[in-house]
Order: sequence, then structure tokens, then C-alpha cells
Amino acid sequence: MAAEKDDWRLLNDVEHLKERELNPTDGEEIAGCAPDLKNCVFCFEKVEGSPYQLWFVPGDLSCCICEKCYRDFKDTFRWKKLDGWDLGWGQSEL
Ligand SMILES: [Zn+2]
Repeated sequence: MAAEKDDWRLLNDVEHLKERELNPTDGEEIAGCAPDLKNCVFCFEKVEGSPYQLWFVPGDLSCCICEKCYRDFKDTFRWKKLDGWDLGWGQSEL
């Protein structure tokens, strides 16, 4: 089902995510490497720390997006999906 324009999830501060490049990852990676990311930026789905939970993160790791929201909004936000597993987790010194 396509996301509606007035979808409650779009009431969050997500404008900056338009046309971003996203890397696929999983809950276990996020929990281990970016523990500040605890919830989906759209629907607040909790990061469970499971390798079976698929997530998407922008290169700057500013937020994470659950699989469902990724599917619902990828056309609206014109996301470009990267290959993933190339995030350089932990290598950012900034
Ligand atoms: Zn979500």
C-alpha cells in the first residue's frame, strides 16, 4: 500500500531525508555499532538488536529507517539504495 501524503509518520522531522543514499543493515549491527540509534525515525519501531531485522541508514548514521517505512517511503523520498556493508562502522572519528 502506498504511503498517504498525510501519513502520521511524515509529521516527524524527516524532510532532510529526501533523496538520500541509504545503506541496508540489520538490527544487530546498529545495536553494536551505532547504539544511539534506537528507533525508526518514521514510525519509532524499536531496534531489537536482531540480525533478522532489516534496517536502512544514511551515510552519516543520523537516524535509522525500518524495513516497512523504507518500502512505504522509498518512492516519495527517492532514496538511492547502496550496497551496504560498507559503512565504516566505528571509523568515523568525528
Ligand atoms: Zn519505521
